[in-house]
Amino acid sequence: MPWDFSTEPAFQRQLDWMNEVVRTRIWPLETLLDELGWEGLQRGLAPVQQDVRARGLWAAHLDPELGGQGYGQVKLGLMHEILGTSPIAPLAFGNAAPDSGNSEILALAGTPEQKERYLYPLLAGDLKSAFSMTEPDSAGSDPTLLKTRAVRDGERWVIDGHKWFSSNGSIADFLIVMAVTDPDARPHQRASMFLVDADTPGVEIIRDVATMEHPWESFGRYGNHAEIRYENVSVPAEALLGAQGAGFLIAQQRLYPGRIHHCMRWLGVARRAFDMLCERSLYRYAHGSTLSRHQTVQNWIADSAAEMQAARLMTLHAAWKMDTEGVLAAREEIGLIKFYGAQVLHDVVDRAIQAHGALGYSTDLPLEAMYRYARAARIYDGPDEVHRASVARQVLRGYEAPADGIPSEHVPARREAARHQFAGLLDAVTAND
Ligand SMILES: Cc1cc2nc3c(=O)[nH]c(=O)nc-3n(C[C@H](O)[C@H](O)[C@H](O)COP(=O)(O)OP(=O)(O)OC[C@H]3O[C@@H](n4cnc5c(N)ncnc54)[C@H](O)[C@@H]3O)c2cc1C
Repeated sequence: MPWDFSTEPAFQRQLDWMNEVVRTRIWPLETLLDELGWEGLQRGLAPVQQDVRARGLWAAHLDPELGGQGYGQVKLGLMHEILGTSPIAPLAFGNAAPDSGNSEILALAGTPEQKERYLYPLLAGDLKSAFSMTEPDSAGSDPTLLKTRAVRDGERWVIDGHKWFSSNGSIADFLIVMAVTDPDARPHQRASMFLVDADTPGVEIIRDVATMEHPWESFGRYGNHAEIRYENVSVPAEALLGAQGAGFLIAQQRLYPGRIHHCMRWLGVARRAFDMLCERSLYRYAHGSTLSRHQTVQNWIADSAAEMQAARLMTLHAAWKMDTEGVLAAREEIGLIKFYGAQVLHDVVDRAIQAHGALGYSTDLPLEAMYRYARAARIYDGPDEVHRASVARQVLRGYEAPADGIPSEHVPARREAARHQFAGLLDAVTAND
């Protein structure tokens, strides 16, 4: 009977260690980000990274031959729940997006030469990468609308297109670019991935787009989202990553596990906001009692606890299904958690802000930053509506419309059928009367 909610003791010890390290050595660094800058942050994280490697937890998402642990999604999910509590914790554990996902793509589809040139330096932290798929005027939530083209020219490919929201694009050494190579193929077989060095002539990083998360214009900052024009970008045939036309297939392999990690990281954030909500309710006094004695606040606490528990179980179940039955078997579960988890994060952070009043709105607490982060979760990696639609389509495959147009639960019709089924019983009961 393999339904089991426990964690192996040895792995639980790893999680406990992570929890301690993240809270005592990484959370404090969050408050110094402006003073430290990117270089200073890297120096601050270096000793933690050393300990993480010694503990065997560095880049745990990768297979052992690449220095990872080859952990399944359940274990990775539990790790990401801890790492999610801080935006900088994944950097200390070698699994910060987008480098982590890009390293998975390279591990999955890269040739030995591509791994040598891009993957190993990426894992060593010597290179930075970006994933360049979304386009400002076409392909976003519907990636089959990609306009960026890669055309074969002898031994080379020439790429032309316009992208934006390529996270870390302005500090990346190389970009993984999705471009249409086979415009006449079926929609999901038209695009391919290319490894493009950021200094290739024709790659123009136009700007970093200011966002809700970083509302002030800046350039070349870690975590920014770049707008990029690719004009006549000529790359060798060996820049093709994976098979021609396999771009979407490879992207899927990366995105599905990535969604488990997102959802578990969101739960880490939600938990931190929830802890603040509970703490606040116990010390803030208004209208005759602490907030904890007002029923609305009690409802916030109870609803948040229930929703986080539901999201956590749903996510770990999706991870378990992926581990036991494979990525494709877990598609519906992953769609569910993507929109449900994002909503739970949003709602828990929102309630925590409300309970803190002006303090919650201020930058004296991390809640306002969490709120901006939470808002993006409902858009990136496919907006809520697309995942809802996809889940609904999959659910509906298990149903069919009644041929006669009468609902299968229609009581008069069922009563009629039951009269036939139980005619003998009805006769016997009537005869007794
Ligand atoms: C913080 C952040 C980081 C990102 N990082 C990257 C990155 O590194 N690389 C990259 O390539 N992209 C990245 N993106 C882009 C992201 O993948 C897209 O924003 C996302 O896929 C949605 O596409 P879009 O913005 O073009 O929205 P659109 O496609 O224009 O959709 C707009 C809205 O239309 C509605 N909609 C769309 N389809 C449907 C439907 N079927 N039914 C009902 N409503 C629908 C939804 O409400 C949706 O939000 C990032 C985005 C954000 C916010």
